[in-house]
Amino acid sequence: MGKVRGFLEISRKKPGDRPITERVHDYKEFVLPLADQDLRDQGARCMDCGIPFCHEGCPLGNHIPDWNDHIYHGRTTDAVAALHATNNFPEVTGRVCPAPCEASCVLNLQGQPVTIKTIERAIADYAAESGFFRPVRPQIRSGKRVAVIGSGPAGLAAAPPPPRCRRRCRRPPRRCPRPGSRARGRAGAARDSPPRSARG
Ligand code: SF4
Repeated sequence: MGKVRGFLEISRKKPGDRPITERVHDYKEFVLPLADQDLRDQGARCMDCGIPFCHEGCPLGNHIPDWNDHIYHGRTTDAVAALHATNNFPEVTGRVCPAPCEASCVLNLQGQPVTIKTIERAIADYAAESGFFRPVRPQIRSGKRVAVIGSGPAGLAAAPPPPRCRRRCRRPPRRCPRPGSRARGRAGAARDSPPRSARG
């Protein structure tokens, strides 16, 4: 678990935002990361509940108390493995998920849930910066094949598991040559529209 009595000694700390006057001029990320020591302190607040309601709240069933503990003890590599055990896109969910895990956290009874989403994003960013995103290649293949139709978020989420169970998975040819077409199209449209400050 995190630090014994950590939740009594350490307050919840949320990441800050870039100033509005600055961020209206671009589409860059506006949520600032927490400092390493702050992240460890926030991980220390987790009580490793006997019944972790954060699990119930998370649609993915993420192993939240595990990574909180890894972060608190500075075992970042273990935190990456624990996070990716259940989540194929933590770099996305750590940013856009409404965090029902935090709403379900037992510490939310006092309005001070563990900053789960912030910790998740930090672990995913560390994984990306440290080269942990690598294809999982099975040592033995079963010879069976699985077709995943579509390469949006659902298809991308479904695609990684087959190699882990020794099946070959290949994205079929389609109109859009790049994965995530629908989400990519919307993001692209937003990116190509003029910033708010430049509109009439
Ligand atoms: S409910 Fe909150 S305090 Fe309990 S294990 Fe989950 S994150 Fe930790």
